[in-house]
Amino acid sequence: MDTQLPAPVEIRAPEGARTMEILWSDGVTSALHHRTLRGFCPCATCQGHQGPIRFLDPEKMAAVNLELKTIEETGRYALRLGWGDGHETGIYTFRYLRTLGDRSDALGEKMSSERFER
Ligand SMILES: [Zn+2]
Repeated sequence: MDTQLPAPVEIRAPEGARTMEILWSDGVTSALHHRTLRGFCPCATCQGHQGPIRFLDPEKMAAVNLELKTIEETGRYALRLGWGDGHETGIYTFRYLRTLGDRSDALGEKMSSERFER
């Protein structure tokens, strides 16, 4: 049995939208709020170098712009997201995006207290 993870087949992030949708190769669709994606940005600037990934509320940060400007596939395993304020160091693995999507569906607003492994 192949243990291959689902990969994005299609990514929808129209200008002005507040969510990014990912259609996965196993037929599941994840709808990820920009606030969730940015709050859980996995980069070292946001998260430091140790410990689980935690939610940093974008609404409490100065000069954060939640417009998603660029989505770039990197290394065939991840997406690099670029935001309206120029922050573009977050590399989100497909596995991480799928986990975020699944947890976000299950938890809704309670999502912000989640922690994720790197
Ligand atoms: Zn970041």
